[in-house]
Amino acid sequence: MMDAKHWKEEGDAVRCALCPHHCLIRKGKTGLCGVRKNISGKLTALGYGLYPAIHLDPIEKKPLNHFLPGRSILSVGSVGCNLRCLQCQNWSLSTDGPDGNEAYHVPVEAIVKGAAERGSMGVAFTYNEPTINFEFIMDAAPGIRERGGKVVLVTNGYLEAGPWDELMEMTDAANIDVKGFTEDFYRKVTGGTLAPVLRNVEASVRKGVHVELAYLIIPGMNDDTEQLEGFCKWVRGSLGPEVPLHFTRFHPDHKLLHVPATPPGTMERARDLAMEKGIDYVYLGNIHDKEGGSTRCPNCSTVVVSRDGFSSTLKGLKDGKCPKCGTAIAGVWQ
Ligand code: SF4
Repeated sequence: MMDAKHWKEEGDAVRCALCPHHCLIRKGKTGLCGVRKNISGKLTALGYGLYPAIHLDPIEKKPLNHFLPGRSILSVGSVGCNLRCLQCQNWSLSTDGPDGNEAYHVPVEAIVKGAAERGSMGVAFTYNEPTINFEFIMDAAPGIRERGGKVVLVTNGYLEAGPWDELMEMTDAANIDVKGFTEDFYRKVTGGTLAPVLRNVEASVRKGVHVELAYLIIPGMNDDTEQLEGFCKWVRGSLGPEVPLHFTRFHPDHKLLHVPATPPGTMERARDLAMEKGIDYVYLGNIHDKEGGSTRCPNCSTVVVSRDGFSSTLKGLKDGKCPKCGTAIAGVWQ
């Protein structure tokens, strides 16, 4: 167990300031994420090094399509989450707590060493919401980088600005979920708010972290043209044309078992809309669609990376440039 960061005493309780929930936590209780506990008046990070899920995954599975394609990454997942998404597709981890999982504690050194030894390009903190284990990532990241590895986050981006910016100092690439594009959607479906997520995405892009966005399209909830258009306009206007966008297909899960899977036509409509708005790299995920997975040069439309599932084939990209017209393709390719 490790002392948590980003909290203060408030009467005989503590106030966590890591994420916008700002939980007031009384002695012996945990915050909403389930992994930050007030033990004897001090906030403790129960999830520190608690990683019950450890796999070697293709980087494309995060999904990151423009960040060292074709490589594998040691991917670790813990328990708990600071959102309550009805559609959660990793609910067995996100709704689990530390109790009963004590045997899965892994020291920082083991993660750092394991990443370098397994033919991995680094470590992806993923599966559940990684940022609630802020302290572990901050401790592990320098060692991962010292050995030449990359630090990758797959995150909901729902953190206070200060700790988020600290994390970004240690992050090479992030896939960030934007789960919908209204405050109403965030409140009703995720239990959080949209504004901090947008702020954090913008800050990461400005800082030069490699960012790709994921938007899970849920029929009847965030698939209306107004919401999709608003999202695409924000991406184009606030982030620029080069941030890759992944529209992913919803399958009935968790508390939305009654909602049907996203129709393929809706996925294609979202892609067309994003491209109309001037976003250069738009992908469809959780759906077999070879075209939706390919990277085309935004200038001459030549396929520069083709993908089938999680396997990528570079088509003559040279120094990150299109082999036909020489246009630079945004991303980290080598
Ligand atoms: S990180 Fe956890 S304990 Fe802290 S404010 Fe967010 S949900 Fe509450």
